[in-house]
Amino acid sequence: MDTIITRFPPSPTGTLHIGGARTALFNWLYARKTNGKFILRIEDTDTARSTKESVDAILESLEWLGIDWDEGPYFQTERYPIYNEYIEKLVESGSAYYCSCTPDEVNAMREEAKARGLKPMYNGKCRQRKLTKSDNTVVRLKTPDSGVTIVKDIVKGDTAFQNSEMDDFIIQRSDGSAMYNLAVVIDDITMGINTIIRGDDHLINTPKQMLIYKALGADMPVFGHVPMVLGSDKSRLSKRHGAMSVGEYKILGFLPDAMINYLVRLGWSHGDQEFFEKDDLIEKFDLEHLGRSASMFDTDKLVSLNSKHIQNKTPEELAGPLLFHLKNLGIDAKNDAFTRGVIETLQPRSKTLVEMAKGAVFYYQDDVKFDEKAAKKFLKQDILDVLQKSADYIEGLETYTQESLEDVFKKIMAETDLKFGKIAQPLRVAITGTTVSPGIFEMLLALGKDKTVLRIKRAIQFISKSGLFQDKA
Ligand code: GLU
Repeated sequence: MDTIITRFPPSPTGTLHIGGARTALFNWLYARKTNGKFILRIEDTDTARSTKESVDAILESLEWLGIDWDEGPYFQTERYPIYNEYIEKLVESGSAYYCSCTPDEVNAMREEAKARGLKPMYNGKCRQRKLTKSDNTVVRLKTPDSGVTIVKDIVKGDTAFQNSEMDDFIIQRSDGSAMYNLAVVIDDITMGINTIIRGDDHLINTPKQMLIYKALGADMPVFGHVPMVLGSDKSRLSKRHGAMSVGEYKILGFLPDAMINYLVRLGWSHGDQEFFEKDDLIEKFDLEHLGRSASMFDTDKLVSLNSKHIQNKTPEELAGPLLFHLKNLGIDAKNDAFTRGVIETLQPRSKTLVEMAKGAVFYYQDDVKFDEKAAKKFLKQDILDVLQKSADYIEGLETYTQESLEDVFKKIMAETDLKFGKIAQPLRVAITGTTVSPGIFEMLLALGKDKTVLRIKRAIQFISKSGLFQDKA
């Protein structure tokens, strides 16, 4: 079998959105699964709307997702000479011709066809005129007058298009620039692309593109047009359904592997399996199970998958992504044993990395900000004795382990006659500033002995000062 060569050809007129990422993923997975090639091509011929920022954003999002390419990025704007070479070939072989009809003339032809109850289109006037190139000529492809062009599609099955309804469409503008469909086909042919998976919004272009393949005598690639991604209300996914771009999901705290897992399930299935790691996907992906019906974007499902992927990673794997989110919160943390310990305490309770980062902030701020309500309830004069004992006993520990900490608690419980919760909760507020944190022992262990003692002492100071203040008042 020939090497499978797939491609992703985004137009750089915005960021990488969910639909585009899914198309890229399907093509990438198929290339990786078959040990084939995946080519990246930037379709930037719409110079008014294409920007360098969009190119950068698209490349960055693909890299973040881990979708790597074997060739490219190629830029269509750098390939005009290649397109022109093929256009000349088409003219020479008689498959295309120069046309000098003005827009007004073409409009008149359209009106005339409409009046006769036909599809409005160009009538082929210049077909036999044997014009040569000049400043006001375009190049049109000579399309068949009868018969059908059948798009054989591995997702949708066959779709037949009547050739009589396709006019001799323009493949080169009068300024010498190639039209979209021509450029795409020449790129796909010259890059050796043999498998094209794309959104079904492009299906209307496919018969035209097939006629160009035929005119050039080139092998037809395998086409698969996948249904669009819909929003929860079944309308086409748009901004009002929430975040649209992959970059936004990064900021919202999703793991790339969770995005990949979620995106692939928007239009592909493997029995009822929902959770996939990337390697597993590469092994199991196939074109046979691309879905025919549109899938709806469901944020809750994405969050639930994200949580599962967070649980399935090691603290080492989560450290990098977490540091990014901590930085967004103003915390300059390091990828070290301390951070890995912090992650261990938060991993089981985090659905997103933003949640994890917010929960991790207190670990990195010895200057604890006490939540007002929590401080009023738990950091009162009557707890000073407990806090003092905790600081002293913990400071005196030779080994700082779960067992030794449990012994400290037992000792204080015996000496004060207080229940565990009456000691643990004020201590939690003293150390984290709030009443919510990971389990007290895992949290104290992750924080380390020195920081723990330091923070208890600071809380003691805080209570003593506010006590003075209360006395004066
Ligand atoms: N550039 C097109 C887009 O961004 C893709 C064209 C194709 O897949 O053939 O929608």
